[in-house]
Amino acid sequence: MLTCPKCNKKQSETEAVVTRKPLFAGGYHMVARCHLCNAFIKNLPHSEGSDKLYFGKYKGKFMCEVADTDKRYLEWLLSQDIKETLKAKIRDAIAKSEAKNKQEKINLNV
Ligand SMILES: [Zn+2]
Repeated sequence: MLTCPKCNKKQSETEAVVTRKPLFAGGYHMVARCHLCNAFIKNLPHSEGSDKLYFGKYKGKFMCEVADTDKRYLEWLLSQDIKETLKAKIRDAIAKSEAKNKQEKINLNV
């Protein structure tokens, strides 16, 4: 649970407006803002799904980033002969990307 430092509104990480802030070193981190007053709440730690790919054309990119930009590639990877633990991470990254896109649409409609 997050608490807004400005208006004191308590909200879950899914209620808060979460945006990505690119990092100088590459990749990005997630920033949570209040869904009522838009005040900065905190930087969210990377969760699963922000693992990096270590091979292929997106080597060094975060899986969740690739899920946002080229989901088809990850879906194709899932059909390949790769480790089951890696497949689980890829599925997780795709699911999180889809959930986030849904959330962004909701935020736009407010
Ligand atoms: Zn607030």
